[in-house]
Amino acid sequence: MLTNDELAKWDRENLFHPSTHLGQFARGDAPQRIVQGAEGVHIIDRDGNRLLDGFAGLYCVNVGYGRWEIAEAIARQARELAYYHSYAGHGSEASITLAKMVMDRAPKGMARVYFGLGGSDANETNIKLVWYYNNILGRLQKKKIISRWRGYHGSGLMTGSLTGLDLFHRKFDLPLAQVLHTEAPYPFRRPDPGMTEADFVAHCAERLESLIAAEGADTIAAFIGEPVLGTGGIVPPPAGYWPAIQAVLDRHDILLIADEVVTGFGRLGSMFGSDHYGIRPDLITCAKGLTSAYAPLSGSIVGQRMWDVLARGTDENGVFGHGWTYSAHPIGAAAGIANLKLIDDLGLVGNAGTVGAYLNDQMRAALGDHPHVGEIRGEGMLCAVELVRDRDARQFFDASEGIGARTVAAMLKRGVIARAMPQGDIIGLAPPLCLSRAEADTIVAAARDAVADILG
Ligand code: PLP
Repeated sequence: MLTNDELAKWDRENLFHPSTHLGQFARGDAPQRIVQGAEGVHIIDRDGNRLLDGFAGLYCVNVGYGRWEIAEAIARQARELAYYHSYAGHGSEASITLAKMVMDRAPKGMARVYFGLGGSDANETNIKLVWYYNNILGRLQKKKIISRWRGYHGSGLMTGSLTGLDLFHRKFDLPLAQVLHTEAPYPFRRPDPGMTEADFVAHCAERLESLIAAEGADTIAAFIGEPVLGTGGIVPPPAGYWPAIQAVLDRHDILLIADEVVTGFGRLGSMFGSDHYGIRPDLITCAKGLTSAYAPLSGSIVGQRMWDVLARGTDENGVFGHGWTYSAHPIGAAAGIANLKLIDDLGLVGNAGTVGAYLNDQMRAALGDHPHVGEIRGEGMLCAVELVRDRDARQFFDASEGIGARTVAAMLKRGVIARAMPQGDIIGLAPPLCLSRAEADTIVAAARDAVADILG
């Protein structure tokens, strides 16, 4: 077995890590952690540290680590049929069964699921479906996509463009011209603190309406949004936001893509965020919770009105010219089946609702009155603590102070992994859906002590 020092050196010299400061990492100035194993809600690294993973990897290991049911399903599938493609009508028992299971759980009105590998490629697929749809309908100008500032939809060319975070655009020549951004539904950062929640919702709908008017509704194809803003700050929408947005989109015949990569399969305490908020999407993007990240797999769930047009399109134009080698990969599908069964058998959707509410309540009790805590917010098994210089004046820290990252580092010293969200001083929590109350208490204690360390 390689020594830790050898591995650490090879890592710094060979592996190109995503979302990492490349220069610092190569020089040995940025931290490194080599993960060896994991069990339940804990990961164990090569130095023997056992850490409570309060972010479920990247909000994806929903059933928790070390589930032998999924490991064995993967092994069985690898022995029986590791791979065959799904082009031209080919399938496997695993991919067909998983498709049925996904459609049985999907919100009303959905017709088919296309399987990819991750959230980014599923969103790329969705945008192509939208363009194809409008071309078949002869709406050749109706192609622009509206996303929200602070939305996160991936880091491909189109999906990185849809993402509304500066870090993902700067120096990459993004966003692409077909993408527009509108107001983030982020009540804590609303433009005028005097606005009520209802005023702010009306403001968001009005900003969208004005953008559509300025561009021309005949040029706007679709709107994409996460039911709860995720990487942009873990922000549940203000009450009435989705009905107000849906009404604007309906009025202008604009398709709605619900990006449920984080919220799909239980994180909010409902199977889908669309059900949770009464959203009526034309397309749903899912990934992470579909397999709990035991194998890469994503889904583009297509609504009936789009499906009918896509099918008609192939009658007119021939084969649908879109596909990945690994679409509907049997091993990913086998992992997905075992994962969805576990979610049902263990009642994890319900647990996300009840223990998630407990986590949020306990966090409010521990930190709600702290002078540097501007807001504690969450929904289901999502929780965020936003740190501010002055809560009454809603004054934020300067990014250069790195308050969020330092607080998260202080939590890590106490054995709990949280995520410093990329824009703002926001401690993000998205634990596995199997979290217990005792584990929630451990997270809260670490957050309370870390905030005390950094901010007094
Ligand atoms: N959409 C949302 C809402 C996400 O949170 C993510 C990833 O965090 C993605 C899309 C992209 O998924 P992936 O990283 O699997 O490409």
